[in-house]
Amino acid sequence: MLVSVVVPFYNEEESLKPFYDAITQVIDSVERYEFELVFSNDGSKDQSVEILQKIMINDSRVKIVDLLRNYGKETALLAGLDHAEGDAVIMMDSDLQHPPYLIPEFLKWWEQGYDDIYATRQERVGEPWLKKKTSELYYKILQGVTEQGVEIYPNAGDFRLLDRKVVDALIQLREQSRYMKGMYGWVGFRKKEIFFDAAERVGGTTKFNFKKLMKLAIDGVTSFTTAPLTFAAYIGSVFALFGFVYGIIILIQTIFLGKDVPGFPSIMTAVLFLGGLQLITLGIAGTYIGKIFYESKNRPLYFVEDFLTAESMKKRSEGENDDIR
Ligand code: UDP
Ligand code: MG
Repeated sequence: MLVSVVVPFYNEEESLKPFYDAITQVIDSVERYEFELVFSNDGSKDQSVEILQKIMINDSRVKIVDLLRNYGKETALLAGLDHAEGDAVIMMDSDLQHPPYLIPEFLKWWEQGYDDIYATRQERVGEPWLKKKTSELYYKILQGVTEQGVEIYPNAGDFRLLDRKVVDALIQLREQSRYMKGMYGWVGFRKKEIFFDAAERVGGTTKFNFKKLMKLAIDGVTSFTTAPLTFAAYIGSVFALFGFVYGIIILIQTIFLGKDVPGFPSIMTAVLFLGGLQLITLGIAGTYIGKIFYESKNRPLYFVEDFLTAESMKKRSEGENDDIR
């Protein structure tokens, strides 16, 4: 049986070699399975690919899906899943924040019949307090507004083992805005949670800046629920009701007490507040329309520059020799 390890990476020249050393140590000790290491290059601009190519020469288990540009981690993961051939696929980050020593444990639960085994971070070492708290709050809200039956597993990242049938299900979901955390829950399958202590990055820096995190957060909400639209409608109706009642009060006041000219501040407040509210709801609706726009184009999710395997490299070098002759 073949087990694939899928690793998306972006500018990871500092961590790939330590990662490879650490993971080979673990998989070499697991003798009942064969392994392949599918590295998905998310458009790195540094020496990452060269480093991997050097490793490939001595290790035919290493394969590289070389994407044309940086599509984002979720898409890079999908590209890796598309190319993985294993009966089970383990996904992990390349910076050793996902400890390879968990692989035997993943396999143990897989053998016991679980299809989707995910590792939950017990503690986030070296992460600022504010980031921790905002992410906690975010997942609480996300779960609250997500459609019934779909569970979001907040601490579970993309460090998991998927059975072949889960992979086959996941790669059928070809939406443009991919929110993997929600997708695992959406497809269902028998899940098992295991725990690990997150380590600090082995080298380099995080590839997620504030902008990317915001996009991911908005994608999370808008890919799995239309609750914000409903929410906008609710707020709208509350204010409409309020406005109607207030209108009647003013009418009665005017009839019985005469004209009441002052009132500029209250009018301004109402105009500005409602104007703001309208823009927000328009923005929410717009976000969904934007999604429809992108999805309806139905474009391929990524383009592969090259798929490098031991065989393809060999063929290529033979081809080169032919040219010389
Ligand atoms: N990554 C990627 N494409 C991106 C950003 C990140 O493939 O656009 C990879 C990155 O190289 C790493 C994994 O996704 O292997 C997790 O990223 P990172 O460690 O920077 O995120 P953090 O652990 O800080 O949340
Ligand atoms: Mg990391």
